[in-house]
Amino acid sequence: MPAIDADLHQMESALAGLFARYADCLLAQILQSTACNATHSIEQRAAKWMIAAAERSGPERVPLTHDQLGMLLGVGRSYASRVVQKFKAARLVETRPKAFFCQECRGLQAKACLCDTVSKRHFDEVPLPIPPWAHGSVTSLPEAKEAFAEAWARAGLTSDDIAGWQQIQDTASMR
Ligand SMILES: [Zn+2]
Repeated sequence: MPAIDADLHQMESALAGLFARYADCLLAQILQSTACNATHSIEQRAAKWMIAAAERSGPERVPLTHDQLGMLLGVGRSYASRVVQKFKAARLVETRPKAFFCQECRGLQAKACLCDTVSKRHFDEVPLPIPPWAHGSVTSLPEAKEAFAEAWARAGLTSDDIAGWQQIQDTASMR
């Protein structure tokens, strides 16, 4: 088999592994979320979503409105606002226009259920598809990303293709 075919075959199988991991993690997250909606209080779920948002945007300005929080929780805006006001009274958050500031993230975390932690633990348990050409030199997700990006660039893929892949991987890994 010519070398270029072998390289493409390796990339194809690594990519298939990546999508399989994404599907596995997404399904686990959906199942955990279903159980969460059925068993945990609105306050616990609100804290969980607010912490998850703060982890992605940073605690200084978390762009999550009361409307959006209500949609995530399956309740109306006024109900979501009451929960936020409760967290605000406890000095866990401060509200900002169309956002909040996570004043005491640890305290907010303590109010949250553990569903996000359970999902993250699952992500850690699903093996990362290490590109075959990078075995032994890749031990973390950022290193795997870099190895994939370099190989894809060598194969002539555009930065948009690579960005699209990284977005998928970020969603799958929730990091
Ligand atoms: Zn939960």
